[in-house]
Amino acid sequence: MRLERETLTERNTLLERKTDVVIVGGGPAGLAAAAALREKGVEDIVLLEREDRLGGVLNQCIHDGFGLERYGENYSGPEYAAFDIEKVDELGIETHCCAAVLSVTRDAGWETAAGPQRLKVLTAEPEGEGVYRSKAVIAATGCRERTRGAIEIPGSRPAGIYTAGEAQSFLNLHDLLPGKRIVIVGSGDIGLIMARRLTLEGAEVVCVVEKESVPGGLQRNIVQCLEDFGIPLHLNAEIRKVYGKDRVTGVDIEQTVQFETHSWHCSCDTLITSVGLIPENEILQTEGPGLFVVGNARYVHDLVDQVSQEGIDAAGEAVSYLNSLEMDAGWKSGGNGTVGDGERNGSEKCGCGINRESFSIERLKSVREAKKRELAARKREAAAQNAWENHLTGNAGQKELTCILCPNGCRIGQDLSGARCDKGRRYAREELVEKRRVLTTSVKVEGGDLPLVSVRTDRRIPKDCFKQAMEEICAMTLDAPVKRGQTVCEDLAGTGARVVATKDVVPGTETRQTENH
Ligand SMILES: Cc1cc2nc3c(=O)[nH]c(=O)nc-3n(C[C@H](O)[C@H](O)[C@H](O)COP(=O)(O)OP(=O)(O)OC[C@H]3O[C@@H](n4cnc5c(N)ncnc54)[C@H](O)[C@@H]3O)c2cc1C
Ligand code: SF4
Repeated sequence: MRLERETLTERNTLLERKTDVVIVGGGPAGLAAAAALREKGVEDIVLLEREDRLGGVLNQCIHDGFGLERYGENYSGPEYAAFDIEKVDELGIETHCCAAVLSVTRDAGWETAAGPQRLKVLTAEPEGEGVYRSKAVIAATGCRERTRGAIEIPGSRPAGIYTAGEAQSFLNLHDLLPGKRIVIVGSGDIGLIMARRLTLEGAEVVCVVEKESVPGGLQRNIVQCLEDFGIPLHLNAEIRKVYGKDRVTGVDIEQTVQFETHSWHCSCDTLITSVGLIPENEILQTEGPGLFVVGNARYVHDLVDQVSQEGIDAAGEAVSYLNSLEMDAGWKSGGNGTVGDGERNGSEKCGCGINRESFSIERLKSVREAKKRELAARKREAAAQNAWENHLTGNAGQKELTCILCPNGCRIGQDLSGARCDKGRRYAREELVEKRRVLTTSVKVEGGDLPLVSVRTDRRIPKDCFKQAMEEICAMTLDAPVKRGQTVCEDLAGTGARVVATKDVVPGTETRQTENH
């Protein structure tokens, strides 16, 4: 039961209310937690999302690569989100969009001295502020990007500098190309994915600049986003200066190779930064029992499947917590929820490794630090194993290739050694003859609530056909509504592949921007 903006006027009476669980954030972590809570018998759940639709960052991640662990399939972001949104709808969970949570505090004075305190969730909603007094809160608020300021690039402050997520949102949600000649700083997965996306849309990505000696993103993204399109990656390199008065006109790049440093000027009209993500949880102004932090709000995950699992685990923990409250003689039954039969041992560790009884911000920080160290070690190991340098020269590609079908990124020899599964062996056989990729992009829509619908080919098509395929797709315009799964082209570029929509676009009033950003 989704309350749309138009019907929110009915909610004046709801603006101060008691609940069993408030979930903050309608991305994959929050959606998975909501469904799991209901399946465990919790009735009184409210999910609050500050954007005008559910799905979180997945809405703008129109590429594939989602759901390999959870579903064993390679979905796009909007498809993955749609499954969870449908489930939450089917389970009749109350969700409010355009509802930004301002703070989560402990509601000290509200219960009697004998009873437990509730958490107080303050929201800004279209009608004004709302207060939810909840027994438990699951914070699934995701993360935000580090900006140019955070990495201190010197030079002027012209227009044309964006984070990769901003550029992704411009392009995939608003049909705006951020620039024509682009330098990307940082080789994390988002930067790599944007390098490919911008190239497909006709921009020239001059290079990706990475200050570390190994790429930050997955090997499969180095292959399918950079190597496939001949985009250079400069390692051990940094942007030393940004030029431009009104708009970026160029950057100075400095690179150190074997103790020798050289620098060069690179003209460009856009600089995109992909320099890391920071968990977003400033709204949490309390800690302790009843508060659960999941997904990217806890630490930044590589895979959405892990995020969803954390949401499910946190729901189990929240149910245990609610049950332990019920057993407390001092509890004044304020909420109207009935709690299902989750495990009753309230001090057990949750699947996320946080003991909720001792949960604290300090503890959260140390989990993140440990995770960072683990990720850094994994990256170093992967870089050594994969000998990525050879790959970047293009020489080793003849002898060995990287399987791009899953994040393992196995290195497969011409004799098919190194592949961990049959799927990978099939991929390698095909790749040695002809490179084929699934093409994910978007098609213009008239009269919809979004100006674009994300689409994908229903099979891998020869990479050499991408140019023609993109020309055909750019020439298309659809009329709203468009349904997820709808075929929008029967035979793309003579490859025999169908193009299918990967999200719904309903009739609406989004106006198309005609100018580039
Ligand atoms: C560019 C990119 C590419 C990726 N590629 C892949 C991939 O190929 N495969 C893969 O498995 N994973 C991929 N991921 C990772 C995966 O998408 C994320 O890990 C996952 O979406 C995080 O889920 P989340 O629910 O924690 O956060 P989010 O999806 O960010 O959701 C958080 C939600 O909380 C809301 N929110 C935040 N603060 C508030 C507030 N105060 N009040 C109300 N609502 C709030 C936000 O609006 C948002 O909707 C990618 C991520 C990115 C960014
Ligand atoms: S060969 Fe390796 S990378 Fe390819 S699908 Fe199998 S496990 Fe994944």
